Amino acid sequence: MNLELSEEQNAVRQLARDFVDREIAPHVVEWDRAESVDRGIVKKLGEVGFLGLTIDEEYGGSGGDHLAYCLVTEELGRGDSSVRGIVSVSLGLVAKTIASWGNEEQKRKWLPGLTSGEYVGCFGLTEPGTGSDAGNLAPKAVRDGDSYVIDGAKMFITNGTWADVVLLFARTGPEPGHRGVSAFLVPTDTPGLTRRTVHGKLGLRGQATAELVLEGVRVPASAMLGPEGKGFSVAMSALAKGRMSVAAGCVGIAQAALDAAVTYAGQREQFGKPIAQHQLVQELISDIAVDVDAARLLTWRVADLIDRGQPFTTESSKAKLFASEAAVRAANNALQVFGGYGYIDEYPVGKLLRDARVMTLYEGTSQIQKLVIGRALTGISAF
Ligand code: FAD
Repeated sequence: MNLELSEEQNAVRQLARDFVDREIAPHVVEWDRAESVDRGIVKKLGEVGFLGLTIDEEYGGSGGDHLAYCLVTEELGRGDSSVRGIVSVSLGLVAKTIASWGNEEQKRKWLPGLTSGEYVGCFGLTEPGTGSDAGNLAPKAVRDGDSYVIDGAKMFITNGTWADVVLLFARTGPEPGHRGVSAFLVPTDTPGLTRRTVHGKLGLRGQATAELVLEGVRVPASAMLGPEGKGFSVAMSALAKGRMSVAAGCVGIAQAALDAAVTYAGQREQFGKPIAQHQLVQELISDIAVDVDAARLLTWRVADLIDRGQPFTTESSKAKLFASEAAVRAANNALQVFGGYGYIDEYPVGKLLRDARVMTLYEGTSQIQKLVIGRALTGISAF
């Protein structure tokens, strides 16, 4: 793998750095306290092309490869994980999945709006009673003439209250487990679909997380994404790439923790010298730095594999597992460098730790990633 970035990749990374410093960094504390990022950020993300990365220009996308997508995601994660998540879901889990599985009509209907930021997408897999065991999801979609009628509930849906469309997974067949699952593109203004904000999150407070309730939601049969009964494959293919995006966001968190810790350690004095001169503080900083590099290299490897058309699912799980745990460690180490000041939100590291924590939970917990990796290594499923 060539670790030297191309001119284009360097340019997109710089664009993302400038965007974060201009449009995100000044508002991070305010958005976190208000429990909402400014919704106007979605349009701005669309205008600069970040919601269309890797999508064909024909459908409103801005092209670019998966490494460029990682670079942007990393920068957004450095700035604010709540904003990073909007992109990872609306582009990463929804638009990219429509681009891979959608027919021409579905691509023309949804992709230009999603890539421009006119629409927001959300991904409805988890339910109140079914998380890790997603293949056993409960909602039913019953065929009625040219329509499906969907009943059920979804929980913890990122972008949920903002979204215009939900990529929803429901059961269409009598087959047990994942075999009876199909995917649907459901406009959120469809009668019978209600949304409730999930309040009180430890982190990602700026993000619109929702519970969705579906009661007699009728969609045309043409809303099905991919073949009937293949919904679980649609979901898993979305998550395989999505995990790379989460990993890249985690690299951004860890990088932000490193930057903050180095700067603070150079300024803060104790025992008559900058705390950076104390060896145990240097240990904290060097541990963060190693986590940043290792997480970044694992993440870039996934992008490289995707861009070369190679299998990447296990590598994506490895990157997500390591990067999410590394981001928690890095933010926690940075908080230690800040001492008591790390514990108040005028300083950035407490939020980094709160935001990092969920990365080991969503898009498959760390335990689930280990089962994916273990299955690939042994050939035995331990789910
Ligand atoms: P459970 O599955 O109940 O797991 C509880 C514990 O049991 C975990 O430690 C888990 O690792 C462990 N466990 C479960 N099964 C096994 C096993 N076989 N072996 C070992 N350990 C096991 N979901 C979406 O669909 N779309 C979204 O946009 C989305 N966004 C989210 C945003 C936030 C802020 C949060 C908190 C969650 C989000 N989720 C979303 C849901 C997330 O993906 C789930 O929370 C996650 O998959 C875990 O499911 P669960 O919470 O039901 O935990």
